[in-house]
Amino acid sequence: MSAKVRLALWVTFMVLLVSVMVLVFVLVINRHSLPEDPAEYLVDFVTDNANEVEFDRGRFEWDDLSLYRRGAYCAYYDADGNLLRAAFKEDMDFSDIPFKANVIRTAESGGREFYIYDHYVDMDMYGMWIRGAILTDSHFGITDVILRLTVMILPIILIVTFLGALWISSITFRPIEKIVDTANSISDADDLSGRIALKRGPKEMKQLAGAFDRMFERLEKLFDAERQFTSDASHELRTPTAVILAECDHAKRKDRTLKEYRESIGHIEEQGHRMSALIDELLGITRLQQGTEKYPLSKGDLSEFVSVTAEGFVPQDDRGISFETDIESGICCSFNASLISRAVYNLLQNAYKYGKEGGSVRLSLKREDGMAALSVEDDGIGISPEDQEKIWQRFWQADPSRSEGGSSGLGLAMVREIAALHGGDVSVKSAPGEGSTFTLRIPAISS
Ligand code: ADP
Repeated sequence: MSAKVRLALWVTFMVLLVSVMVLVFVLVINRHSLPEDPAEYLVDFVTDNANEVEFDRGRFEWDDLSLYRRGAYCAYYDADGNLLRAAFKEDMDFSDIPFKANVIRTAESGGREFYIYDHYVDMDMYGMWIRGAILTDSHFGITDVILRLTVMILPIILIVTFLGALWISSITFRPIEKIVDTANSISDADDLSGRIALKRGPKEMKQLAGAFDRMFERLEKLFDAERQFTSDASHELRTPTAVILAECDHAKRKDRTLKEYRESIGHIEEQGHRMSALIDELLGITRLQQGTEKYPLSKGDLSEFVSVTAEGFVPQDDRGISFETDIESGICCSFNASLISRAVYNLLQNAYKYGKEGGSVRLSLKREDGMAALSVEDDGIGISPEDQEKIWQRFWQADPSRSEGGSSGLGLAMVREIAALHGGDVSVKSAPGEGSTFTLRIPAISS
């Protein structure tokens, strides 16, 4: 049974329960406040009137006396039995029945049977007889009416309640059907671009649909990135593999001198190293992103660590570039030493690689707004504004011809992952032809 029907049934059942409880309550109250027995009711009516009788300045006060109340009739007589006032109908004639105080009797009149009840009000000098009459088969009908109405109306109320609850629950559950449809279409078509995009509906459903949409978006980005990564990686490995195969083929084709063989093996070794470095970088970055490897952060003096790392840095080719450092002392952070040294190394390597011959590279570390800001500045070729977004992508290179020198386009992607793992970020300021400044920021510990 669907949740909608279940909900509608539950609401209907609750309405039925409440209706039955109200009915029982009304019937019990009714039973206590209004006697069901006509004789009893008649006695009450006559007694009530008797209590209201007043005689003032030679006259009876009639204002508070009733002649009729819900099926019961009253007549008033003086002490001698002369009729003063009556509300008896024409077919009600009890004149030949003598008065008898406080006794319920039955009497026939007009072919019908009545209860009659007499009461004498004695006021010393004056007296008054009150005679009440009521049909013996009178029933006050309240219980009957309530029950009859209930039998007629309750089914209608229950049907309306059930349909209403079903309608409201289907409106409420409609977004869930949309979510299910979208999820199904995504899994059937293997296409993560679908979105629920719920415009109308209850607030909670909109939140749920929003959460699903954000999840789909993130999944789509992840899958796209993975697809891109696999295709880029296979593309990057294809070149060295092709070189190795060509070199082997060339060496096998005819007899070579020992020197020629050595040269071929040298080329193969070079490509092998390139592939190995590429695989290392790929693995490193994938582990960082997927969190498969633990990189524990430990508190330490970052200033000291960066000074030592900078001292140990040896550029692949310095091209007459001068190197200076400006490190503020005593900046403490939680960091992973091997990752930070890798980031510093990547940034310095790039500064030399893309720096101008005879130029300068500057490494600085400062405390800025509770963060440790490590900057590497060069005065080299710079990066165009449109490329500044792309440099963080894996394998992206402004000038792939430079990849001969061991560049793979993974260095900055790695730096970005390292920054994220430390709860920080990395940014670039650059102008083509003027140079670039890369700044890595990670949270500092207040000393
Ligand atoms: P790689 O240096 O191995 O190519 P990176 O991820 O380190 O890969 O850098 C990506 C690209 O960003 C480089 O190919 C280069 O075009 C550009 N780049 C990085 N650092 C600098 C820099 N200091 N100056 C100019 N361009 C740079």
